[in-house]
Amino acid sequence: MNASQKPAARAPLLSLDAAMADLLGRVESQAAVESVATFDAEGRVLAEDLISALQVPPNDNSSMDGYAVRAADVTGPGVVMRVSQRIAAGHSGQMLEPGTCARIFTGAPMPEGADAVVMQEDTIEVGGDIHGVHIQAVPEAGQWVRRAGEDVTRGAVVLARGHRLSPAALGLAASLGRAHLSVVARPRVALFSTGDELVMPGEVPPESMKPGAIYNSNRFFLRALLRRMGCEVSDLGIVPDRREATLAALKSAADHHDLILTSGGVSVGEEDHIKPSVQQLGNLDLWQIGMKPGKPFAYGSVRRDAGAGQGANTPCHFIGLPGNPVSSFVTFLLLVRPFLLKLQGVPVDAVQALPPAITLPAHFTVARADKRREFLRVRRNAAGGLDLFPNQSSGVLTSVVWGDGLVDNPAGATIAHGDLVSYLSFADLLS
Ligand code: AMP
Ligand code: MG
Repeated sequence: MNASQKPAARAPLLSLDAAMADLLGRVESQAAVESVATFDAEGRVLAEDLISALQVPPNDNSSMDGYAVRAADVTGPGVVMRVSQRIAAGHSGQMLEPGTCARIFTGAPMPEGADAVVMQEDTIEVGGDIHGVHIQAVPEAGQWVRRAGEDVTRGAVVLARGHRLSPAALGLAASLGRAHLSVVARPRVALFSTGDELVMPGEVPPESMKPGAIYNSNRFFLRALLRRMGCEVSDLGIVPDRREATLAALKSAADHHDLILTSGGVSVGEEDHIKPSVQQLGNLDLWQIGMKPGKPFAYGSVRRDAGAGQGANTPCHFIGLPGNPVSSFVTFLLLVRPFLLKLQGVPVDAVQALPPAITLPAHFTVARADKRREFLRVRRNAAGGLDLFPNQSSGVLTSVVWGDGLVDNPAGATIAHGDLVSYLSFADLLS
């Protein structure tokens, strides 16, 4: 019996937390920074503290259509006041004559001297020789006034470096007058799938598939997930299960990418080409993580050619995901996502932990405990509980489409109907 035939010794399982800490310990934020239009910055990570050069809003302004007054002038309900000026949004008025009011519209700056707004629903217009209004409700000073700087004060750090920009954050940056933002460069990721059984949709119609062939599904969701995480993806397609082809793909990808991500071929005992090829070109650790789905996971690095230019002296990261589609999907969310966030400069305390879990009642049972920590595909139901997808096999991609999240079930735990369990939503895991 030679070494490759020997049954793999049962290596102790690495906990998911230990795997995550180890993985994050091996990645530093990319140094490269670029300026992008605020319009195009969604999902990018700030490389600068965003400091406000002005206060927002810039002036005290009205939050209602109505009449600006000096509150002290309205001594009781029923006061009639002359309308001495009219101020629309985008225009400024004059000092408010005592005893009068100003017709004012939402967003228009408060005239000097005025300290409150009476909304137009609380007034009745008075015709005749004076243009006036009958004020029916006595305002308090400050009523319906948005204070200058109540959103942002001048000089404040509005968003810190390392913040990943949401659509709302783009609006906030624009409110400070920023048309461009300094962000961390997109990670350049080379993606490839391994497996001679894989066929691309469109190449062979379903009725002509050879026995044993399956369509490459991982390639589709991994590419989309990488893009969602802000990566620039080079899709290298399917690499055949042959040593030379694997070496060539790895070698050419390493020079111009920050990460090579593969799926398949990392199970223990498999006749696989990923492990020896990555080891020949750098180094590789094959982990057996105590999680289900997604036990096999590989992390390593591939040396770059000396002539690779910028970054030639640092190796390219390598991550090998399991081939089973659900395993690939879940390990991406739980391990690759935090890795990519840290690579883009998101502070480690913000990425280390899983997103906050919600405690919800299980409307299902798990009678047999697993020795691995299990991530069950579930869906929230209208009764406020969680339903379980009936087939939890790691090959059943339907489960992650049907589900809207995962139950994080500790190793060795059974679940009885009504038990409170930890739920992680896909919305959080994909954000
Ligand atoms: P492996 O990790 O290569 O042993 O693959 C485990 C299982 O996942 C096998 O059933 C493969 O056929 C399947 N698989 C691997 N890669 C893909 C892929 N890109 N798309 C769909 N299924 C895959
Ligand atoms: Mg394979």
